[in-house]
Amino acid sequence: MAPGDLQGIHHVTAICGDAQRNVDFYAGVLGLRVVKLTVNFDDPTTYHLYYGDGVGSPGSIITFFPYVDSGPGRPGVGQVTTTSYAIPLGSLDAWMARLAERTIDFDAPTEAFGCRQITLLDPDRLRIALVEAEAPAASGWEGAPLAPDIAIRRIHSVRLAEEAGESTARLLTGLMGFRETGTEGTVRQYEVGSGGSGTIVEVQCSPDLPPGRGGQGSVHHVAFRTPDDAHQFALRAALLADGRNVSPIMDRNYFRSIYFREPGGVLFEVATDPPGFLIDETDADLGTHLKLPAQYEPHREAIVRRLPPLRLPNGVEIGGGAG
Ligand code: ZN
Repeated sequence: MAPGDLQGIHHVTAICGDAQRNVDFYAGVLGLRVVKLTVNFDDPTTYHLYYGDGVGSPGSIITFFPYVDSGPGRPGVGQVTTTSYAIPLGSLDAWMARLAERTIDFDAPTEAFGCRQITLLDPDRLRIALVEAEAPAASGWEGAPLAPDIAIRRIHSVRLAEEAGESTARLLTGLMGFRETGTEGTVRQYEVGSGGSGTIVEVQCSPDLPPGRGGQGSVHHVAFRTPDDAHQFALRAALLADGRNVSPIMDRNYFRSIYFREPGGVLFEVATDPPGFLIDETDADLGTHLKLPAQYEPHREAIVRRLPPLRLPNGVEIGGGAG
């Protein structure tokens, strides 16, 4: 396998404010499953929330760090400015009705790269798009709020805003193995692996935008899928040989990760598909307990006391001394 053979998007990680409001939106409105509730491994006073499909398939995952004290971020260059979800073909009208019922604003439908879509802002003003696209049905679960003919299937694409896209393009189409698949206006589209929904990175050349600033409502990084440790190791070596700063391999319990900044400033991660989210909870109770990494387990009681109270979609309450 060549170092660049990535399989698509693994997850997107973003920063939010209030954790409960985030759960209510991603689980309640978008109908995703909470597939893991844990803490920031570097700061156990903060939750780390994971949402995805019924089994937390790689490519369906968005994660949030609720940083209550951080101010709002500012969208701009050097950031992921839109995270798009694939929804079933023909389901956009049902989505618009669902959002309107909940008085959530969205832009009028547009078509981009052949797909009908709308964009909306989450409660922290993170930009989300819902894109009608060919994609395999997502794994459902008992009690899922949405039927398969409307449910989100996976992350479809991410859009990066860049001051100038050339050096980003060289990295994507070089070591990372992407190929350019289209251009519309100032946006170039790239796909990797088998291509199609779930493998798409769009680079928007936006020299007039201010530099992005991290904070609530901003994406922290985007992660790409690698099938195994050997491939990740080889890619890391190739990136280092290319003169890039790459983190050591980090154990994130549910995947192993390396991080590096692409030339335009967006933080990239390459994460392994294994072991996945079923290593410490069963399919039936995925995302219904506060899971702590081994180093924090002896301090569970103190950690739980300091976490803000949080009610999960199944009614379980965590934090503030509960759970
Ligand atoms: Zn990540």
